[in-house]
Amino acid sequence: MKSKSYKLNLFIPVSIAIVVVSISVFLTVFYLQFMAIEERKMMSVPNFEVEFQNRIASSTNALDVLIELFEKDKEIQRLFKNRDKKQLFTLLEPIYQKLNEKMDITHLYFLDREGKVILRVHDVDRHSDIIDRYTFKQAKLLGKSFSGIEFGIKKNFTLRNVHPWIVEGELIGYIELGKEIDKMMNAISNVIDVEIFMAVKKDIYTDVPQHVEERLEHYSQFDNYYIVYNTIAIPDTLEDLFEFGMNTDLHLAIDKKYYHTSSLLVKDVKQMDIGYLIFFTDATFERELFIRIMLILFVSATIITLGLIIGWKILSQNREGQINNMTKNLEKIAVTDEMTDLYNRKYFNEQGVLEINRANREGLCFSMLMMDIDFFKRYNDTYGHQAGDEAIKTVAKLIKETFQRASDLSFRVGGEEFAVLVTHNENEDLLLRANGLRESLISEAIAHSKNDAARVLTLSIGLVTCKSGNIDTLDLLYKKADESLYEAKERGRNQVVVYKNKELIG
Ligand code: GH3
Ligand code: MG
Ligand code: MG
Repeated sequence: MKSKSYKLNLFIPVSIAIVVVSISVFLTVFYLQFMAIEERKMMSVPNFEVEFQNRIASSTNALDVLIELFEKDKEIQRLFKNRDKKQLFTLLEPIYQKLNEKMDITHLYFLDREGKVILRVHDVDRHSDIIDRYTFKQAKLLGKSFSGIEFGIKKNFTLRNVHPWIVEGELIGYIELGKEIDKMMNAISNVIDVEIFMAVKKDIYTDVPQHVEERLEHYSQFDNYYIVYNTIAIPDTLEDLFEFGMNTDLHLAIDKKYYHTSSLLVKDVKQMDIGYLIFFTDATFERELFIRIMLILFVSATIITLGLIIGWKILSQNREGQINNMTKNLEKIAVTDEMTDLYNRKYFNEQGVLEINRANREGLCFSMLMMDIDFFKRYNDTYGHQAGDEAIKTVAKLIKETFQRASDLSFRVGGEEFAVLVTHNENEDLLLRANGLRESLISEAIAHSKNDAARVLTLSIGLVTCKSGNIDTLDLLYKKADESLYEAKERGRNQVVVYKNKELIG
């Protein structure tokens, strides 16, 4: 008897669930990481602007205070009025050196009312030229201090503070202090944790003097820009920014660091577009964190998946085993006679046909035995129904013992009637086995005083054997076996009748 094996198939839903959960977690982490970097990058420009404005404001104040000290100094006033350049320089040179060293002051001018240079303390040999810078013009025009960041060909960006010098209500000239702001960039870069590059348009440097041209050659350059200032080494990949536009958010890997870019248009005090400040926001931490989280997620997902698969396998195998056992039991119950544990009539009808087919296929002989307990009604009447049941069980047990080969099938086909189907080869003597069964029942010596054939319980048997290749249908076999059984009864019971010649044997 074969039963279909039952399989619980949860693999697909479980896999889909794991994949969906993994993808959503991945997307969530990716989104959060992206937002964190974006937030930091977005803050780079405003952070820079705030820092820059603060530093410019405090530097301007410092320049104001310094100029005020110079303009109020009687000795300086006197030397300036006398145009005593030499003495003025001697007096101011050590002060300038200190200011240069401590405060990054790079320019100190004394100008007359028309803007002619009386003294450049920072460059004593150059004088008598006329200043026509915007900051000077504004200070002259407005009649008050004016400051701003000017772009110069020689020194790139300088914060200039020009102050009208008024002594006893009379304008005697101008004092100008300047401070290069490059060093400021380094400090800002450290404070806001962003690398800074300053790209200046090449077309600003047209018709430049020889010494400026030489200086320009030292700058890194791209098609239209010089990089005049940089807090870290200039990567070649910076070129992409010029190629794709300054507002492109490039993701650059430099020296194991990972940067996102942003930029700010730079104008000088005359509102002229000079170039761009380019910011590299360091996103290394966020990126590494992301990779680590992804790794942890991957490992956890793998462990969970394996755990689920193993757990599911074990559970489903147990469950499948239980279900398969239950199915087998149910199938067995359906084909088994409860009282004797032999196969039932229904199974005889089904399996009989299959067994005949099998014997035909394998070229074997086939036999059917029909059996009936002799005078069983009388037995019941004499010893009671319960004793009758026990007798039936004993007969069934003997049938099983006699026909216990894999190719033997025993059935209870009626109340006290049994059938046996045997697939066998030519040499097999079924008559011998049938008589063996009959005799073993006699040996049990179950008293049956009303049995005319013997004083113990006996069995009549009809046997029909078909040669290989010549097997009857189940119905015909049944008919022949039944006929032989009837014959056995007729001839006095407790015997086997073989269908072929209907000889009385036993
Ligand atoms: P024969 O030798 O001609 O077969 O005589 P018989 O009395 O055995 O024949 P019959 O078929 O008339 O009687 C069969 C009896 O078997 C009738 C019934 O009471 C009894 N019987 C059938 N099934 C069971 C059962 O499950 N338990 C018991 N105790 N008796 C049964
Ligand atoms: Mg009967
Ligand atoms: Mg009977």
